[in-house]
Amino acid sequence: MQHAAEPSFRESVDLMFNRAARLMDLSPGLEQKIRVCNSTYTVRFGVRLRGKIETFTGYRSVHSEHMEPVKGGIRYALSVNQDEVEALAALMTYKCALVETPFGGSKGGLCIDPRQWDEHELEQITRRFAYELIKRDLIHPAQNVPAPDMGTGEREMAWIADQYARMNTTDINAKACVTGKPPHAGGIQGRVEATGRGVQFALREFFRHPEDVAKAGLAEGLEGKRVIVQGLGNVGYHAAKFLSEEDGCKIIAVIERDGAVLDPKGLDIEALRQWMTKNGGLLAGYPGARHVPDGAAVLEEPCDILIPAALEGVIHLGNAGRIKAPLIIEAANGPITFGADAILREKGCVIIPDMYANAGGVTVSYFEWVKNLSHIRFGRMQRRAEEARSRLLVEELERLSADQHLGWTLSPDFKQKFLTGSDELALVRSGLDDTMRTAYQAMREVWHNREGVEDLRVAAYIVSISRVAATYRSKGL
Ligand code: GLU
Repeated sequence: MQHAAEPSFRESVDLMFNRAARLMDLSPGLEQKIRVCNSTYTVRFGVRLRGKIETFTGYRSVHSEHMEPVKGGIRYALSVNQDEVEALAALMTYKCALVETPFGGSKGGLCIDPRQWDEHELEQITRRFAYELIKRDLIHPAQNVPAPDMGTGEREMAWIADQYARMNTTDINAKACVTGKPPHAGGIQGRVEATGRGVQFALREFFRHPEDVAKAGLAEGLEGKRVIVQGLGNVGYHAAKFLSEEDGCKIIAVIERDGAVLDPKGLDIEALRQWMTKNGGLLAGYPGARHVPDGAAVLEEPCDILIPAALEGVIHLGNAGRIKAPLIIEAANGPITFGADAILREKGCVIIPDMYANAGGVTVSYFEWVKNLSHIRFGRMQRRAEEARSRLLVEELERLSADQHLGWTLSPDFKQKFLTGSDELALVRSGLDDTMRTAYQAMREVWHNREGVEDLRVAAYIVSISRVAATYRSKGL
């Protein structure tokens, strides 16, 4: 648990902002304007369930409207509160600026334990919450576009999209009112995996810079790196799966709410996830790996890369000193408190900050929003034209080889890859990869070259704040 004496999540985000702002020459008025949260709407609504009226409390916070629509997920958890929603909305502002998605920052939350309700009840609750937000333009394709977050997913987004369409029957862009929808309801290929995929692309980019890898004291290359993942939800699962199956990382421990499983030889993530699905989300009893009930202690085990992919505040003043990982990538939002961040930096730990590390989700949300507004699937016009051009080249090469008796043969594997035009998934992954590389390079440029910048988090804030400030200035503020 977070130390009682530590600042709240929102204060922690503000303190991190201040570390960066100190190194910039913003006018005090502008600095304050960027830092503060513009508005938070609180709604309490009743839904008749199981014969009585249940009252729910929800929030939608808008941190910055320097660009519209504003963007950010909706979280379903009992722990949701105004401070948390505002902290997460602020992070969305900086995240969107860093990865150049043209949005302001927002976030929503509903105090609910989704496991306590069945599907039909959840639909009633979600539609009612959406109704309250839609009525006030807090869900709107041009003004405020939610997405999934903890406790929500494609199913909830489809209900929200349908609720908006029912209330705005003539809005041709209705589908763009929310992202993270299932592909059959206006979603995009690759959105579910996007945040985890983004974590993978972020690590690949980090490991392309030997100077940066050396700062963490690690040997070059992702191959064989020992990784600990906290949280095997959508983000942690995809990150762990891709890193182990495609980059040769060894996932030596997974931490969940009922403890952790460890295997120094590396866990089979797919098998573990299947086990959890069958066992009510619990790890205990998973064959072939050691289970320990104290999950938090496993954060302190030696490893090369630690991936907190669950909640905020899990690395705090109480445990930061014992964390051994030389590299931490924040797949969750705010997993390291302000105080813990200072302790880890002091020890030489390199932290790839949340606003960059988990930006894959909002990046692919941006692609989905663009797809909805353009009313056409990515690749639909180009794919076969691309294939036809590649075929021309292959046929010409084969003709030349035969005519000139050169004896060249193109390998079947090359031909198959070269002749396949890019479908939507391939385009989404390519756009995401490019985004993660470009954003990392903007951040590292500041990290290495700007006076007084010691870490990637401050560098990320500087890049983001400068972009938000430039937008405000161009508006004449
Ligand atoms: N909830 C996700 C986040 O924290 C996604 C937001 C979005 O796609 O708008 O970044």
